[in-house]
Amino acid sequence: MTFDEIKQLDDTYVMHTYGRFPVAFDHGKGATLFDVNGKSYIDLTSGIGVNCLGHDNPKLVDALTEQAHKLMHVSNLYYNEPCARAARLLCEKSGMKRVFFGNSGAEANEGLIKIARKYSYDKYGEGRAKIVTLVNSFHGRTVTTLKATGQDQFHKYFYPFTEGFDYAVPDDLDDLKAKCTDDVCAVLMELIQGESGVHLLDPAYVKAAAAFCRERDILFLVDEVQTGIGRTGALFSYQKYGVEPDAISMAKGLAGGLPVGGFAVNGKLQDVLGPGAHGSTFGGNPMSMTAACVVLSEVTKPEFLRAVEEKGEYLMEKIRGIGSPEIAEVRGMGLMIGIALRDKEKRAAFVNRLLENGVIVLTAGADVIRLLPPLVITREEMDTAVEVMKKVF
Ligand SMILES: *Cc1c(COP(=O)(O)O)cnc(C)c1O
Repeated sequence: MTFDEIKQLDDTYVMHTYGRFPVAFDHGKGATLFDVNGKSYIDLTSGIGVNCLGHDNPKLVDALTEQAHKLMHVSNLYYNEPCARAARLLCEKSGMKRVFFGNSGAEANEGLIKIARKYSYDKYGEGRAKIVTLVNSFHGRTVTTLKATGQDQFHKYFYPFTEGFDYAVPDDLDDLKAKCTDDVCAVLMELIQGESGVHLLDPAYVKAAAAFCRERDILFLVDEVQTGIGRTGALFSYQKYGVEPDAISMAKGLAGGLPVGGFAVNGKLQDVLGPGAHGSTFGGNPMSMTAACVVLSEVTKPEFLRAVEEKGEYLMEKIRGIGSPEIAEVRGMGLMIGIALRDKEKRAAFVNRLLENGVIVLTAGADVIRLLPPLVITREEMDTAVEVMKKVF
């Protein structure tokens, strides 16, 4: 099909919930994508932080091809080896004790919310179910995770939302303490706020918040959906921050491109959800879990994580080096990078010009261009992208 044919079909039959760019991708290799007309693009998005091992990764494709021939799905009523192996890898490399697998980030956060509430209910009874999240957070688009998201713009239309959330100002420990009233069972935060603009929390704040929660038996939960799976140069961002959450959610990069989500918990929470308390039809399916095993084996290698760190530093320095007056700040950790613009009105034009010139990027917040390239991006691909940025900015 030509691009116009695809677009017409999509516009006719698919709900218009996304503002799509006028491109249909056909295939990719590493951090390079090709559209249906054969034009190539440097991919600085990896989906939205999903294709961490790049496109057409041979290890991933081979493992999935083999698994597809063997078995694509069995229910969670039975054991399957890839699921057990992926869970072991996650626990061994994170220090967590047990994992639950689902299908998406929102669902992973729903799991955190459920386990936090049940932990508290089991121990303290009713009336201690509130969860404090941060202003400008993003936790998903289900009716509950929209409410967990600390941005008023997400609290519209879909009433009634799930009760039991309050919002603390990021990096303000006094505000967090004030919001942690006696009815609070957990605090949930992204350590780098992704959707709202790539805002890195202050490590001193994160450490103090974790310690405060521990003292009060308030669970400290970290949303690692975007920051996890090697993105920041550690398997999970909390490892960079030097804190030990009670539980974390993950999704995006975990299966390198297949749908997956999950949450991992420490010893305190490992037995809170027993038989019948939680479940998912597709969760832990052999295809996503085979992919997760490949991804986790790769991204937990120390040299792989070091390379992510180095690439991140390289790319940020190069973008700063453009010296464009349009750029107010370049910030990030590993390959999670935000380019804050001086004039947010120009952002759409920049993004479109980058696309026309063969570089695709994401946005975040009101004034940020966000980069989440495949973790396997090469120097050459980064250099090409920066040359285009130089021209566009
Ligand atoms: C993307 C994202 C989610 C939602 O994940 P979905 O898979 O789209 O449901 C939740 N939290 C954070 C931090 C995210 O970046």
